[in-house]
Amino acid sequence: MAQNIPELYGSLVFNDKVMRSKLPKDMYKALKKTIESGTHLELDVANSVAVAMKEWATENGATHYTHWFQPMTNVTAEKHDSFISPTGDGQVIMDFSGKELVKGEPDASSFPSGGLRATCAARGYTVWDVTSPAFIREGAIGAVLCIPTVFCSYTGETLDKKAPLLRSMEAVSKEAMRIVKLFDPETEATKVTASVGPEQEYFLISKDSFDARKDLKFTGRTLFGAPAPKGQELEDQYFGAIKENVGSFMKDLNRELWKLGITATTQHNEVAPGQHEMAPIYMAANIAVDNNLLAMETLNKVAERHGLECLLHEKPFAGVNGSGKHNNWSLSTNTGINLLDPGKTPNKNRQFLLVLACIMKAVDRHSDLLRQSASDVGNDHRLGANEAPPAIISIYLGDQLGDVVNQIIEKGSAESCIKGEELNLGISTVPVVTKDATDRNRTSPFAFTGNKFEFRMVGSMDSIAMPNITLNAIVAEAFDEAANELEGSADFEKACDEYIAKTMREHQRIVFNGNGYSDEWVEEAAKRGLPNLKSMVDATEALVSDKSIALFSKYGIMDKVELESRAEILYDTYAKVINIEALTMIDMASKDILPSVMKYTTELAASINEVVSAGADASVQKETLDEITVYLKEAKTALTTLKADQAEAEKGCVKCTAEFYRDVIKADMAALRTPVDILETLVDSEYWPMPTYGELLFEA
Ligand code: ADP
Ligand code: MG
Repeated sequence: MAQNIPELYGSLVFNDKVMRSKLPKDMYKALKKTIESGTHLELDVANSVAVAMKEWATENGATHYTHWFQPMTNVTAEKHDSFISPTGDGQVIMDFSGKELVKGEPDASSFPSGGLRATCAARGYTVWDVTSPAFIREGAIGAVLCIPTVFCSYTGETLDKKAPLLRSMEAVSKEAMRIVKLFDPETEATKVTASVGPEQEYFLISKDSFDARKDLKFTGRTLFGAPAPKGQELEDQYFGAIKENVGSFMKDLNRELWKLGITATTQHNEVAPGQHEMAPIYMAANIAVDNNLLAMETLNKVAERHGLECLLHEKPFAGVNGSGKHNNWSLSTNTGINLLDPGKTPNKNRQFLLVLACIMKAVDRHSDLLRQSASDVGNDHRLGANEAPPAIISIYLGDQLGDVVNQIIEKGSAESCIKGEELNLGISTVPVVTKDATDRNRTSPFAFTGNKFEFRMVGSMDSIAMPNITLNAIVAEAFDEAANELEGSADFEKACDEYIAKTMREHQRIVFNGNGYSDEWVEEAAKRGLPNLKSMVDATEALVSDKSIALFSKYGIMDKVELESRAEILYDTYAKVINIEALTMIDMASKDILPSVMKYTTELAASINEVVSAGADASVQKETLDEITVYLKEAKTALTTLKADQAEAEKGCVKCTAEFYRDVIKADMAALRTPVDILETLVDSEYWPMPTYGELLFEA
C-alpha cells in the first residue's frame, strides 16, 4: 500500500491520471469533452473506457463491478456482477463491455417509488454518470469496481436523487452564465458549477454498548435513557483533545477516505460527549454528494474495525446535542470566479450584489422548499430545539454585509464597504491579524460565511442531494428572472442597481442577524409571515405545492408525477420509521425493562420482611418500593396505550397515517419514556437491563 499521502490519495479512484495513462489519446479527449462540456458520449468511447476501467480495476484486485446508485432512501444501492466470462473451453476471461458500463438493469420493484411502480413495470435502469468518478470499494467481500449511475424507471421517471441533482446543476449553470454575461459579455467562462463542502457530525460509542441496546440497533437512537450525571455543560468536549482510541479511528478513517479521493481535511471533537466532526474540502455538488454518502459508509466500516459504533442519527441521545450536516454551498465559473465572493468592496461589486439579491429572493420565496429539503425523521428532534437552527428559514448576513444591504434598501446604494479590521491583542509577541468580515452565527439556518452560504439545517444522516437540488433550482429561477429583466437594458448599470435595490427591499424580511434560538424570533418571524414548519410531515406538503411543481418542472428537474411520488415516499418513510421506533419501545419495555423492574421490586419486598423480622426499620425500603410502584404502573398504562394505538395506526392514506404517527404515536412514546427514565434512576443498577447514558457517552 502506498505510504505517502499524495500517492495514497485517490489510489482507488478511476481519476484523470488513470484515464490519461490507460486510454488511447483520442478516447481520453472524447471522454474529457463529455465530462467537461456535456457532449454526447459515443459507444466506441464507452467501449474503450470499459476496457481501461476493467484493466485498472482488476490490477487493483477487483473481481466484480456494480452500478452504484442512490435510490430514494438515505443510503446507496448496488448489485454486483463479476467480470468473469466463459470462453467455451472451460476457462474464463475477465471481460467488461461499454454496454455494461453505460447501462444496467436492476429490478426496480423493491425500491421506494411512491406510486410510480403502479403505473410502470418493475424494470428500472441505471445509467452511467460520466461526471462522477468510478472507484473501487474494498471490504471483506473483496474489491468491487463501483460505477456511479442515475436510476430511472422503464418509462423514464427518475427513481433516485442523482438525476434531479445533475439536472439542477445544469439549470443553475445555464442561468448563472446569463448573469455572468450581463457583466462580461466576452467572458471565457462556459459554465458555473455549484460546489459543496459538507461538514459531517457523528457520535462514536463502544460496539459492546451498542450491541447491548435494541433501540440503537433497530433505530439508530436511544428510545429510553435517563441523563448521565455529566453532559455537555462544562463545554469541555468541543475542540477538546482527541482521545487515543478516537484518534486512531480518525487516522484510519482519513486514510480510507483519501484512498477514495475524498479530501477529508478537518477533524475535531464536537459539543456533546462522544461527538465528532469530519469535513472534506469542497467539490462539485454531484461529487460532494457521492463522497458524503461514501464517507458515511466509511465511518461505519472503520468504526467497526476499532471496536466502535458510529451513530449518524440526528438525535441519538436526549438531552445532549444531536448531529447535523452543514452544507456549504457556492457557485464558481470554470474560469475560477466565485460568484459569492464579495471582494474587498462589495458595495461596488455589482455582480456580487445582484447574485446576493437573487439568493435573498430565492430563499424568501421558497423557504418552505428549503426547509423541506432538510427534513428527515430524525431531524425533527433538532430543528427548533435550541441546539440547531429553528425550523424557520432566514438568512444571516453578518453586521458588515447586513449594513451594505440595509443601505441599499434605504437609499438605493451603499457607501460602506467591508472593512478588513485588525485585531491587536497588545502583546508584542502575538502577531496582529485581520478579522473576517462576518462573525459566526451558530443559530442561523442559512448563513453567509465569507464567500459561500452555509445551510446549517441539514440532518447528519440525510443525503445532501435534496438540499442542493433545491438550492440550485431556486437560485436558477431567480437568476433567470433577473436576466430576463436586465438583458439588453439600455443603461445596464442603472437598471441593475434598481433591480438589486428593489429585490432586496422586497425580500428583506428573510434577513435576520439575531439569535435564531430565541422565542422573540419565533414571534417576529410569524409577524414577518415566514413559515415555521415544525415537522417533516408539515414540510412535505411544500414539495407538491403549485409553486414547487412550477419551479421544478420549468427547469426540467422533476415533474409533477415525480414530485408527488417523492412526497408519498416521504410520508410513508416517516410512518415506517416511527413505527419501528414504537415497536422497539414496546419490545424493550415489555420484555426487558418492566420485567427487570418487577424483579427488583420482588427483591425489595422480600428484603422488607427480612429487615422487619430482624427488628429493624424498613421504612426506606417501603418508601422506595412505593415510589417504584407508582412509575411502574404509569409505565404499564403508557405501554398499553402505545400498543393499542400502534395497532390502529394504518389509516389507508399515507399522509393521514404519517399525521397519526406524528400526533398520536410520538406522544404515546414520550409518555412511556418518562416513567421508564425515572425508574432507571430508582432501580438498583445491577437490575437495569441495558447500558446507561453514562456508559454510552463516556466509555467509548
Ligand atoms: P466551519 O469553520 O464552518 O466549521 P469547516 O472548515 O469545518 O468550517 O468546513 C467548511 C467547509 O466549507 C469545508 O468543507 C470547505 O471546503 C467548504 N468550503 C469552503 N469554501 C467553499 C466554497 N467556495 N464552496 C463550497 N464550500 C466551500
Ligand atoms: Mg466545522
